Amino acid sequence: MTQTGWEFTITGCGTSHGNPPIGIPRLWSSDVRDRRRRAGGLLRGPGGAVVLIDAGPDLMDQLRDPYRDWDGTSYPERAVLRCDALILTHDHADHTHGFNDLRHLNRLMREPGKTAPAIPIYGHAGHLDQVQAMFPYCFGRGPEFYELSAPSLVATPVVDDQPITICGLTAIPFHTSHGSAGRTTGWRLGDLGYLTDLKALPVEAERHLQNLDLLVLDMLREETHETHLCWAEAMAIWQRLRPRRTVLTHMGHEVRWAAWQDRLPQGMEMAVDGWRTVITGASR
Ligand SMILES: [Zn+2]
Ligand SMILES: [Zn+2]
Repeated sequence: MTQTGWEFTITGCGTSHGNPPIGIPRLWSSDVRDRRRRAGGLLRGPGGAVVLIDAGPDLMDQLRDPYRDWDGTSYPERAVLRCDALILTHDHADHTHGFNDLRHLNRLMREPGKTAPAIPIYGHAGHLDQVQAMFPYCFGRGPEFYELSAPSLVATPVVDDQPITICGLTAIPFHTSHGSAGRTTGWRLGDLGYLTDLKALPVEAERHLQNLDLLVLDMLREETHETHLCWAEAMAIWQRLRPRRTVLTHMGHEVRWAAWQDRLPQGMEMAVDGWRTVITGASR
């Protein structure tokens, strides 16, 4: 059964350094649309389930103010107060170094008299091995582990090209290339394609990316880069896939919102932190 009730939010659309970069005045931008947290996403299901995509170093700020609209004068009702699953694209620091902050969600989800529910982390086995090596205290000790003030997480390996259901959301993981940095996992989530930290899209992956309602696409900058898509490479993928809508993410400081928005073709737009929409094609 098809439903349209999954809201998708880009909680961060910046490259690994975050931008604009501090301490280098010539690279600064005073445009708030160029102020980008590290890349991540948020899915909210019709029944209230929350699925996060990656957990970078800006995670706590993303949980506190996912839509970047909090004025700080009242408790942010739209804050992220739970996480029923986390989808991992890869193990790089800018996508994982917020893991410790998931402990607060363990705390908030704990019902009186019960232990805190563990949060499943869905990802490629090799990435999960790396994450567990970086954060061994977060994994494998059972849901009671939160009582020791550490997150309670469960590594949940996925198999490339094998569809799974996460909180009622149909999800397909597949192999993508991060260039010299190794592999990443691309995801189809309903009719959303999420391709971050991408240097080349394997032909075999394209079958998972047909008839997309929305494509979130890595686009670091105009010039080529060893591990990320540049503008020409991103355009080539876009022309092959022809999604209904496309939004660019993981952008470098060189990519100024005001200068780029007007040059994009119809159906493609710049992200800002807090950009959101409803995606189609998610099964109950
Ligand atoms: Zn990254
Ligand atoms: Zn990366």
